[in-house]
Amino acid sequence: MIRVGINGYGTIGKRVADAVRDQPDMDVVGVAKTSPNYEAEQALARGYDLYAAIEDRSHKFAEAGIETAGLVDDLVAQSDVVVDATPSGVGAQNRALYEEYDTPAIYQGGEDADVADVSFNARSNYEEAVDADHVRVVSCNTTGLSRLVAPLREAYGVEKVRATLVRRGGDPSQPNRGPINDALPDPISIPSHHGPDVNTIFPDLDIDTLGLKVPTTLMHMHAINVTLAAEPDAAEVRELLGEQSRITVVDEHLGIEGTGQLKEWALDRGRPRGDLWENCLWGESVTTEGSDFYCFQAIHQESDVVPENVDAIRAVTDSADAAESVATTNDSLGI
Ligand code: NAD
Repeated sequence: MIRVGINGYGTIGKRVADAVRDQPDMDVVGVAKTSPNYEAEQALARGYDLYAAIEDRSHKFAEAGIETAGLVDDLVAQSDVVVDATPSGVGAQNRALYEEYDTPAIYQGGEDADVADVSFNARSNYEEAVDADHVRVVSCNTTGLSRLVAPLREAYGVEKVRATLVRRGGDPSQPNRGPINDALPDPISIPSHHGPDVNTIFPDLDIDTLGLKVPTTLMHMHAINVTLAAEPDAAEVRELLGEQSRITVVDEHLGIEGTGQLKEWALDRGRPRGDLWENCLWGESVTTEGSDFYCFQAIHQESDVVPENVDAIRAVTDSADAAESVATTNDSLGI
């Protein structure tokens, strides 16, 4: 069993912990948190050992009547791999800790690419992370774009990607994010940083991205145009995308018109926390005109990177190849 520690137990960390617990070849050693809040309470309720991430604040757990198993150093020392799911920039500060204990670490997309040796997406470049000590799972948007680009490149070749990313203002649990009544070009300058981030996965890809932020919390929405090196018809492309295990082609008959109904669908299916681990791509939107392909896809920012973290754990421990790992992750989560 691969012993996994999770440092940072918020939106991403708590989902990764549950996904790791569900794997047949992994154990959760414990999770590290800074404060004894509702998520700490729930970590204990789920049976995870809780470690204090910051020594000076560890007394707060005792004051709140929450038992800890030690400090984050103890967690790192006991783990074969650490998943760092701390806020953007904190992962880079934690790198020295992981190096001190010689524990391979997986960082998240809020970190700069240079925090790690490899930026990772299981569908696109799993092999590059095999045996690496520091791997960054790319952001939710970059994950969603990479999953789409990988099969298109393999099947047809890609001349150019143009993507407009209509991003949620904040996660449902973030009261301090916005806008609350606006639509913001973000950044106003073009291209946005997302294209260069996709280039950490596909260095030679020609891609331009435009970013906006809008007052929703549910999901991101991508409006995509890819100029292919071939001229397939729409039905063929739709079939190709439907074969991808982490792309759900949303069928017309479901009557799903937007992200609200996608989330409702996830809840109706009993998905934990209403999570949608797959890109949700509207089948009806798949259009081709000559070599140009168009579609809309929605990305659940809180969960699409979760299976990618699980695969990254197998890659750094060299315990499965890409196909085996993705199949095991998908089976255990119900993807
Ligand atoms: P979050 O704020 O929900 O959770 C972060 C957790 O880390 C919190 O529990 C916080 O208390 C804890 N923390 C803070 N400082 C810490 C420290 N020094 N040591 C240990 N824990 C500490 O953040 P999140 O949304 O889960 O984001 C985590 C990472 O994942 C970021 O890099 C982010 O960019 C990336 N990411 C987030 C999303 C998203 O939509 N939320 C999607 C993809 C990637």
